[in-house]
Order: sequence, then structure tokens, then C-alpha cells
Amino acid sequence: MEFIDLDIQQKRIRDKLEANIQNVLNHGRYIMGPEVKKLEDALAGYVGMNHAIGCASGTDAILLALMAYNVGPGDAIFTTPFTFISTAEVISLLGATPVFVDIDPNTFNLDPDSLEKAVMALKTNDTLLSPLPETPASTPLKPRGVISVDLFGLPADYQSLKSIVEKHDLFLIQDAAQSFGAEYKGRRACSQGDIGCTSFFPAKPLGCYGDGGMCFTDDDNLAYTIQSLRIHGKGSNKYDNVRIGINGRLDTIQAAILLAKFEIFAEEIELRQGVAEKYSMLLSGINDRLKTPTVPEDCRSAWAQYSVLAEDELNRTSLQEKLKRENIPTAIYYPKPLHLQPVFNCLCYKKGDFPVSEKCASMILSLPMHPYLREGDQRRIAEIVKS
Ligand SMILES: *Cc1c(COP(=O)(O)O)cnc(C)c1O
Repeated sequence: MEFIDLDIQQKRIRDKLEANIQNVLNHGRYIMGPEVKKLEDALAGYVGMNHAIGCASGTDAILLALMAYNVGPGDAIFTTPFTFISTAEVISLLGATPVFVDIDPNTFNLDPDSLEKAVMALKTNDTLLSPLPETPASTPLKPRGVISVDLFGLPADYQSLKSIVEKHDLFLIQDAAQSFGAEYKGRRACSQGDIGCTSFFPAKPLGCYGDGGMCFTDDDNLAYTIQSLRIHGKGSNKYDNVRIGINGRLDTIQAAILLAKFEIFAEEIELRQGVAEKYSMLLSGINDRLKTPTVPEDCRSAWAQYSVLAEDELNRTSLQEKLKRENIPTAIYYPKPLHLQPVFNCLCYKKGDFPVSEKCASMILSLPMHPYLREGDQRRIAEIVKS
């Protein structure tokens, strides 16, 4: 059994994949070929945003979004510590400072009340309200924006988050690397923030065969700036350089692969719902010892992961080992919250600063999840988990 089985999907669409790749080999426009624009148009339509800008990875998508807002030294960007390193890494890469905010224990996403407290803490320099990163007293941080993460494919509480960012005049970047295909109040993920960012890393809900990503926005100026930034800050042509940018394009071949995969994507999202519902049904009845995922009524998850909470770290370890002995792969996303990662030592956060994130990190366990997971396999997994 695979944790994420990409072979079954490939067998289904192998002819289409080969035809699309061959097309690229024939026309030879490997950089910014016609497939890139075709994919951008298709995904902008799917998400319901005016602009889609393909880029080299999900990490670059978030980096480009921050660069479009001219984020740099002295800027504070609020985000969750219970996420993949990319989300906060790009903030520091630009010389800005991540300000961490604890999560909601049911959804694992940014907790709006904690966000409000963190913004107020920064504005009033009151660490009793919320832990703050340590910075030299001579350089007070300026609140600029928020990066929300739709962890495991579940959209965050955008209605609450948006009222906070509007109140404090912050921008909202949505890290939808795991939630492409999800919905929030009837609108697709990537359309909830000022800029939505997703990843096409192979294991994500819509994955290519390498690295890729995309930014979505309704704002013409932001779109134009991101288009420039992804090609070395180009102006009217690539030898006209108007700003510092990056080499951040999406490869034509990856776009061609994604076009083939996108044809069956809506169906795969449906299949994921079925797999998740089956897990939750099979695992019901032991809810006092194992917590299955909560999906708020106005949300639809893309089910990038199906993650359960064990009673405590010891129980998680024994559950993971038991499953491993039966050749069932599992994963821990994420074992250490970002505020405790050595790379962020310089921010001087400490253990206990974000108790919900720390607790979830010690109890979380992701089970095999993909659209083609068989019911028989799910039954076996459930039996082992329950025994
Ligand atoms: C995967 C992921 C990213 C980064 O995407 P890449 O395409 O690997 O660069 C960013 N944020 C989250 C939450 C992710 O899961």
C-alpha cells in the first residue's frame, strides 16, 4: 500500500500525458510555451479569479506574493507555526519577520482570536497578549500582512480572518498549497485572500512531475507585478529590467502534464470526499481515543491528508509502529512547530508559546490518502487502528 499512490492515476491518463509531453517536444517552446497560458486560463476559471500566474514552485508562489507587496526588513508577517517550512521561510528570506499565531485545535488552521491578539500585541508591544519575536529595540516591526494556511486541504476561517486583516489594514496571502480543489462558502480555495498561492509538488492534490506552483489574484496591478517578478523583474520585455525579481517560471512540460491531470481533477476531488467519509465512518466509535478530522459546515476539504489525533505522543508512536508492522505507511505533518525549529532560534520563541500547535504536533498522524484508495485497504487500516 502506498501513502499517496500516483501510479493508479498515471495508468488512467498515460496516453493523454504522453501526447501532451510529445506536443511540447514537437513545438520545442520549453520556456513559457503555450501550455503555460492554457493552464493559467483553465485554473483561473476553475478557481474563479481574474488572474493566474504559473511559477516554479509553491514556495516561489508565496515568495512572489510577498515580493509583490514589497515586503522587506522591518515588516511583520503573521502566520501559523503548524505548517511546512516554506510558509515562514520566504518571510525571513526577504528580511521580514514571521510573527507566529496559534491554531484552532479542531481545524489546525490559524485561530482568528489569536491573530487579533497577536496584531494588538505587536501594535502595543505587549507580550502578555501574545508571544512576540525578539527584535532589536531600535527596529520596531510594522504589521504588514497575514499568510493563512489551509492545512491538510481544509480552508481556514476566512470570514473571521478577513475582518481582522481589514480592520488592521493588512494584506492576506492564502497558502493553499494543500487545498487546491477545496471550497469555502461555495468558492474554490485560492480565491479567499488578496493573493492565493498553490503548489503542484507531485504529492499535492493537483501535482505535476516535478516542481510547480501558481498565484491567483483579482488585482490587475498585483498580477502584473507578479508576472514581472517571476521573470527577473522584466518590464516591457525581458531585457528591460524594472525591479529585482527571480527566475520563477513554470516549465512548459509541467504545464502540459498538469493539463492532462486537470481533466480528471474534479472527479478525483469527489473520490477524495468518498475516501475521507469512509475513514471517518470506519473510525467512528473510538472517538474518545482517536480524533478524526472536523470539517466546518461551510467548507469542503481537498483532503490532501487525512490526519487523526492520537491521545498523546506515546499512543501515536505505538499506533504508527503497529501500522508499520502491517506495512501501512503513515506520516507526521508536522513533528515540530516552526517556532521551535533551530532556524528560527533567532526569533527567541520558546516552548509553551503556542500550546495548541505544540500539542497537535505531538499527537497528529496522517493515514494513507489518495483518490484511488480501496475500501478493503481502508477497512484493514481501520481494524488495525481500532485493535
Ligand atoms: C508543499 C507546501 C508548500 C511549498 O510548496 P512547494 O511546491 O514544495 O514549494 C508551502 N506551503 C505548504 C503548506 C505546503 O504544504
